Order: sequence, then C-alpha cells, then structure tokens
Amino acid sequence: MRTFRGPWPDGKTGAMALTFDCDVTYAYAPARPGPDGPRTGAALFEKQPKRLQGYSRGLYGLNVGLPRVLDLLARRNVRGSFYLPGANVERWPDDFRRIVDAGHEVGAHGHEHENLSLYKDDPDGEALILKTCIAAFEKHLGRRPTGYRSPAWDMNLHSGRILMEEGITYDSSLFAEEAPYLLSDAYPDQPDLLEFPIDWSLDDATYYMWFMPPHLMAQFHDPDEVLRIWQAELDGIVGEGGVFTLTCHPSVIGRHHRMNILDRLLDHVEARGDIWLAPLDEIAAWVQPRMASSSAREAAEQGLDDSKVVIA
Ligand SMILES: [Zn+2]
Repeated sequence: MRTFRGPWPDGKTGAMALTFDCDVTYAYAPARPGPDGPRTGAALFEKQPKRLQGYSRGLYGLNVGLPRVLDLLARRNVRGSFYLPGANVERWPDDFRRIVDAGHEVGAHGHEHENLSLYKDDPDGEALILKTCIAAFEKHLGRRPTGYRSPAWDMNLHSGRILMEEGITYDSSLFAEEAPYLLSDAYPDQPDLLEFPIDWSLDDATYYMWFMPPHLMAQFHDPDEVLRIWQAELDGIVGEGGVFTLTCHPSVIGRHHRMNILDRLLDHVEARGDIWLAPLDEIAAWVQPRMASSSAREAAEQGLDDSKVVIA
C-alpha cells in the first residue's frame, strides 16, 4: 500500500502530532441522536443531564484539563490539533475560542459525538451532522475545519465521500499503517482522502479511561509504563519516516501525573531534534501535494494519462 514517508521539512526523519479530543460530557454520557436530527439552539440547551457524575467528569476536562493542556503547549512552544464536537462549541464557545486564539488547529468531531455506525445506512443524516458541526465552528470560532476525527474512531463506507464534499481534506480515525495514506489506496470504493493513522496504544483513554463496574474500561497505569510505550512507538514510527499521532483527552490526560508523561515525551522529542512536531492540518498541507506528485510519477511510469490521476 502506498504511504508517505518523507522527505520531511528541514531534513527531519519523521513527523509527530499531539491531538486532543475534547468530548467533555460526551465521553461519559454518550449522546442519543435527536429524533429531528442534530440538536442546536434551544433543543440543545433544553437537554439537561439526568445524572451528575458523568457530567462532572466531563466538566473536569473543560475546567481543569483543557487549560492545563493549553498551558503545557504554550510553555513548550508547541501547537496541537483539537477535535471538537460542534455541540460543545455551541455550549462553551469561550473555552474553545482559547484554543483558536493560541494558534492551534481545531477539527470536526461530530456534532453530539454521534457514533457513525448508527448512520451506515443513512448518509444524508450523517452529512447533516457534519454540516451542523461545521456551522457551529463558523459561527462561534470563526473557523471552517479542514481536519476530521470520527467519534470513537468509527467510520462507515459513506464517511470519506461526505467529508470531502464538505471540504475536509484529511481524516485521523483509522488504522492500517503508521504513515499517511489515501483511503482510496487502502479500502474499496473510497475517495482520495488523506488519512493519518491512529492506534489504541497511542490513546490516553486506553490506559486511564475508567468507568465504574460493570463498564470497566481500563485500570490505571504507571505513567512510566505509558511513557515507555509511547516513546518506543514514537522512535519506531519516526525511524521509518512515518507520523506519530498521539490521541489524548483533556479530561483524561489532565491529571497531574499524566500531564507529566507529555512533558517528558516532549523532552525526548527535543533531545532527538529530528522530529517535525506540528498540527495535522500543517502536516496534511505538506503531504498532499507530494503524494499527488508521487501518484503522477507512478502513472507516467505506467504509461497512463496523468490528467486522469486525481488526488485531493
Ligand atoms: Zn471523542
């Protein structure tokens, strides 16, 4: 399968992105889609939580985790990618405007964090969710997102086409590789959407997202153990010219002992000095034209008409 493994800017060996999914309460109390489609305005604000535990855990991410993450990135002079459900942007626009004001990327993450497996036979419903999310970004953040991460890393056969029709230029929700690739090269009947692969082992929720039994998801892990895993993956992926994409959640990574992992990981990146650390929209802007030219070269070598090669 075709992947992009460099060249990278300034002769760097590989690339890395710190990404944060800001689910807030949807991490602990998944949304049920409204009967009339995605909720906005009064319909959204009238929907009050029935239990406060999950709600309060989400608020911890908003009130404590997010400012702590933003402070760390500012202190380390690093920019990241933040994926936001549109409904969260509508509920807490001032909190999320801080992300934009600090120069980070904001990407789409559903509207009410909808599970796309529910929409595998409803592409129009799925498209409406994305349009509603983008409208919230434009209204409250003054930004139209170019990147996407699906809630719970769930995609269906329609998702890639719907994303491209709304001007999304890359996705980061699927596995299959450790370097950027095009959906069209990996899966049947898919468009040329750029994919930045992820993995459960590179997600803070895998190690720390804890629910009370019987919904136990993870036991807590020693931060040194998690750092060893992430650092080994970083060295391995970058060593082969790929992109190390780390997924964190402010409500999860925001505790003191876990933020310390990020700090020490950044120490390691600085010590290496050969890793391009950037938001995924910047990495996408670097990769896309180079994958296109690579495709055109391959087509020329095979005696094909270059004009028929279309890469987004
Ligand atoms: Zn999420």
